[in-house]
Amino acid sequence: MSEHKIALVGTPCEIMAASKLQYYTDSPIDVKLGLFCMENFSYKYFVNLLKEYDLTMDDIEKFRIEKGFVFLLLKTKETVKIPLSVAKRIIRKNCNICVELTSETSDISIGSIGSDDGWSTLIVRTEKGEEIVNGAIEQRFIEAKALTDSQFELLNRIAESKTRKNIETIERREFLARPVLYQRQKSDDSISNEVSEASFLDLRSNVIDVGACVLCGACEYACPDNLITIDDTKPRRKGECPEDCHACFAVCPRTFIPEALRNDNSKPIGNFKKVLTVKSLKHTQGQDGSIVTTILDYLLDNEIVTDALIVDKEDHLAWKPYAKLTNAIDEVVKSGGTKYSVCPVFKPLNDLKDEVQNINEGAN
Ligand SMILES: Cc1cc2nc3c(=O)[nH]c(=O)nc-3n(C[C@H](O)[C@H](O)[C@H](O)COP(=O)(O)OP(=O)(O)OC[C@H]3O[C@@H](n4cnc5c(N)ncnc54)[C@H](O)[C@@H]3O)c2cc1C
Ligand code: SF4
Ligand code: SF4
Ligand code: SF4
Repeated sequence: MSEHKIALVGTPCEIMAASKLQYYTDSPIDVKLGLFCMENFSYKYFVNLLKEYDLTMDDIEKFRIEKGFVFLLLKTKETVKIPLSVAKRIIRKNCNICVELTSETSDISIGSIGSDDGWSTLIVRTEKGEEIVNGAIEQRFIEAKALTDSQFELLNRIAESKTRKNIETIERREFLARPVLYQRQKSDDSISNEVSEASFLDLRSNVIDVGACVLCGACEYACPDNLITIDDTKPRRKGECPEDCHACFAVCPRTFIPEALRNDNSKPIGNFKKVLTVKSLKHTQGQDGSIVTTILDYLLDNEIVTDALIVDKEDHLAWKPYAKLTNAIDEVVKSGGTKYSVCPVFKPLNDLKDEVQNINEGAN
């Protein structure tokens, strides 16, 4: 077992990758804090779009997406609105086949939909998640209230509409022979057979080359021979794979999903224990209720985890996200706020690779 117990923050696709890593390996990820996510953007295309508004990433204090607009809160305190109908062209293609809004395989999911300004909506999904939230309330890290019926309905309605819209895209793509493997409802036996015959070439043709890759970096981390490298565009392989390896294909969130991790899309926000609206009693610099930052603070302070795997922004390139493993609370606080573009979140785990075991045993 790993010496590390890591709390990961991620979007629904990244949380699914973490869940598959847990399913197939002795993963060091112990707590999954999932974000809500409607869409994500390419950093490079975002920079180009801003040029049309005579802006650079450096001009921006904070991003916010709501009510059909991307709101740019500028350092000058002005606000610029970009209609989502315009920003649509910079949304990553893989997001159009994503049916999950609320990180259904997390321990705790967090987002803004359903809550008032300055508060976050929090979905408790697992016993571990419930223990963490109860502890954070008892130790006065956070305060919590029940969501009203209308707030709960709004959340379900938005989740359902994302799923419905993107299922239509998936059906169109499958009809055009562009596979969306993760939405195929296969039995575990049949998944096991498919995985045991798959290799990087199958990952490339079924995920990477057809615009389904979410750029999470789980394949790079899982590769026992370090053959995969991932940059801002896609994973690439250098060298020949051993015959009996399927690790990258197994852990990818866009290949077949084991039955235990799957929602048949009949439950808009997946399985849960309770849904709350919550606010931090310790931090204020976050995106919404600063709940992610505060729960990480609680987890590190109480030594429930050893490290947090978070997404910060580069100092030299405004709003460019990069993933970081840390146990320092000031670094966690600094990483607060949403960066609306992707980066390979599992990259910092590459240093812990020696601890990865059993991927291929699990996949066989
Ligand atoms: C791409 C994206 C799209 C989102 N879309 C929605 C939405 O449609 N509706 C909704 O209600 N909420 C959405 N969210 C979640 C929302 O923006 C807030 O992250 C959430 O409400 C938590 O707020 P907070 O104040 O508790 O978090 P904070 O305390 O500010 O902490 C935010 C945490 O998010 C992590 N983070 C920031 N950017 C990224 C990233 N790109 N990838 C992975 N982790 C990141 C950081 O590590 C940080 O720890 C989205 C988040 C992302 C990253
Ligand atoms: S695929 Fe896109 S929309 Fe779906 S969770 Fe990932 S970043 Fe968000
Ligand atoms: S060695 Fe295994 S994990 Fe690495 S690229 Fe080849 S099949 Fe994928
Ligand atoms: S191909 Fe690799 S980087 Fe892309 S979604 Fe799959 S695991 Fe993530």
